[in-house]
Amino acid sequence: MPLADIQDKMRDACDAAGRDYDDVTLIAVSKVQPDERVAVVLDEGHRIFGENKVQEAAGKWPRFRAQYDGIKLHMIGPLQTNKARQAMELAQAIHTVDRPKLATTIARLAQDIGSCPDLFVQVNTGEEPQKAGVLPADADAFVAEVRALDLPLKGLMCIPPVDEEPALHFALLAKIAARNGLSGLSMGMSSDFERAIALGATHIRVGSAIFGDRVPAQ
Ligand SMILES: *Cc1c(COP(=O)(O)O)cnc(C)c1O
Repeated sequence: MPLADIQDKMRDACDAAGRDYDDVTLIAVSKVQPDERVAVVLDEGHRIFGENKVQEAAGKWPRFRAQYDGIKLHMIGPLQTNKARQAMELAQAIHTVDRPKLATTIARLAQDIGSCPDLFVQVNTGEEPQKAGVLPADADAFVAEVRALDLPLKGLMCIPPVDEEPALHFALLAKIAARNGLSGLSMGMSSDFERAIALGATHIRVGSAIFGDRVPAQ
């Protein structure tokens, strides 16, 4: 779908919710997409992209940055502590802070590097054993822990279970954010970003609706 069509849908969703379009950031999730498709979206003027693997992002974005100004990268996948430095040096935001060890590692590296990307705490709203994120019941304590490290925590992120109504998860995430005084809500993907906007999303992560189906790696 052309980028302009996604933006039209975002505008409609914002209007319907009485929200300001400028308060919703579209992250174009370019993971596993061929460079030609990414270049099309860059040529359309978009500059905010999401990747879920540090290695893939490191192989792709320095090249695009040499060609296009103002690119902002959001890391949205599970992050190993030994990749944290590379992620912090590449990206302007990390959406998947989900455990104390990662938070303390980021805090130490932030001292060393002298800056830190915007951070989101990932919440496992569906309490799925295979999925990353803190459990909803542990979220308040973990948010306090991240704040105590003096890190730039902007909000919360979730990936709802595939087989459940996402709106329930978006509402839960919004509730946890509100009671913790956090304004950022990273939620909503290709199939549900309009519902996420209705429930307060500030960052939507849209991949296949923009770029087409992901071409499998190799
Ligand atoms: C891949 C991915 C997306 C984008 O998914 P689409 O359904 O293609 O829009 C969003 N968020 C995360 C965390 C992802 O890994």
